[in-house]
Amino acid sequence: YEAIKQLREENILSDQECSMWFNNMKYSSSSENSIILSVPSNFYKDQIKIRYSAILEKKILELSGTPINLQFDIVQKSNTATTKTVNSPKPKVKVIEEESSESSDDYEEEEVQEKEYKVVDEDRQHHQLKKEYTFENYVIGDNNSLPTNAGKAIVNNPGKDYNPCLIYGGVGLGKTHLMQAIGNGIHQKHPDMKIVYIPAETFINEFIDAIGTTKGKGTGTSQFKNKYRKVDVLLVDDIHDFVGKKSTQEELFHTFNALYDSNKQLVFTCDRPPSELKDFSDRLRSRFERGLNVDLLPPDFETRVAILRNKAVSKKIEISDDILSYMAKNITTNIRDLEAALTKLIAYADLVGKKITMEVAKTQLKHVFQKPLQLNITIDKVQKVVAEYFNVTTIDLKSKKRTKVVTFPRQVAMYIIREITDFSTTEIGLEFGGRDHTTVMHACQKIEDMTTTNSTLEPTINNLIRTVKESGGN
Ligand code: ADP
Ligand code: MG
Repeated sequence: YEAIKQLREENILSDQECSMWFNNMKYSSSSENSIILSVPSNFYKDQIKIRYSAILEKKILELSGTPINLQFDIVQKSNTATTKTVNSPKPKVKVIEEESSESSDDYEEEEVQEKEYKVVDEDRQHHQLKKEYTFENYVIGDNNSLPTNAGKAIVNNPGKDYNPCLIYGGVGLGKTHLMQAIGNGIHQKHPDMKIVYIPAETFINEFIDAIGTTKGKGTGTSQFKNKYRKVDVLLVDDIHDFVGKKSTQEELFHTFNALYDSNKQLVFTCDRPPSELKDFSDRLRSRFERGLNVDLLPPDFETRVAILRNKAVSKKIEISDDILSYMAKNITTNIRDLEAALTKLIAYADLVGKKITMEVAKTQLKHVFQKPLQLNITIDKVQKVVAEYFNVTTIDLKSKKRTKVVTFPRQVAMYIIREITDFSTTEIGLEFGGRDHTTVMHACQKIEDMTTTNSTLEPTINNLIRTVKESGGN
């Protein structure tokens, strides 16, 4: 806490920034390697995380010599509401201790045999990392600078500062690439380290196979255990695939403990924050939450252009900036979709022997750009998601209130509805306390303009859209 105060006095942050972001932030609690800060809404949480948590953490490390992970907790403005209480770190630590003693009981008797070491050794050559998934090929933008920097720090100091590290984010946002870049980086810098990359699905299948062999020959599971518990770096991709797989979760839990206790680096990816993993063992979830949790956001416009340009250059394809901008403007979902569109264009140009002109791009990508109709998305749903994110009520959104706290979320909600549904501006206006359709048009324009100057707004909106879509029609 002291460290944070000092940082604020050191003028690294301007007065304006301080009053904008930190006046509403309060120290909440801390444990050995994390500090929990309370902020008024998800909006604050995301913005502070994107903009400041990396420098704050760095500064704290400098001042205190301890790597600290900042976490945020949302506290309602009214003092009476106690919807989200702050986790007290002490009991948490206790629980963990109990669990780890229990787990070592189970497994301590395992003996490592010469033969089984060999399996790991061979794995070093076959650690399954794609060689093009490097940091050099990873374009950095506001959406991913924090996870990327964390990844580079891990490469420098595996098993030390950020352990475990969990990277989460939606499909196609670069989780696998980043995770493998960490693996490749460590491999280059520490060639003796045994690195294993494994998709959760493969882990599950191998484990099931191993149990099968155990029943037959009696060696399967111990071989499996030695394969994953005797590595220096374990990278497990897409851990959401473990949902509902109880016995594999159990196995991963023990693997986790064995590696963590001997300071081996663990990196995981997930399509959602661990807190949202339903049907998941609590103690395993708490392990994931223990270290650094960072999220990858959808790239903003500039970053999308940079990614496309990067790909075009690496494929030695000539394609004008106009066309790249045109594509980046129309494909906002994720990087995989961007790549797919580029591949499609290149293939077309190649097959018909034409240059990639704007004309070609427009006709070839017509289908890619068409927005699928979202029939089950209601105005109500969007209002609920947006209100919750900004910590206002849906009643506020429909009210006559014109304070900035309310008008901005209201405009964002209108913009999102316009983007992802077929409701007319008149219909939308009616659902916002009977406002005129010109007000809706004005709101949409305003948000659109803002996205060009505020680089984090678009990812925020994309995230909200994702939440709306994922939460279905209810
Ligand atoms: P995820 O695992 O999150 O679904 P991937 O890591 O498979 O996403 O990324 C999808 C594609 O986009 C991959 O081909 C990857 O190389 C590319 N990609 C993702 N992020 C970046 C980035 N920041 N710069 C360049 N290419 C990227
Ligand atoms: Mg992936």
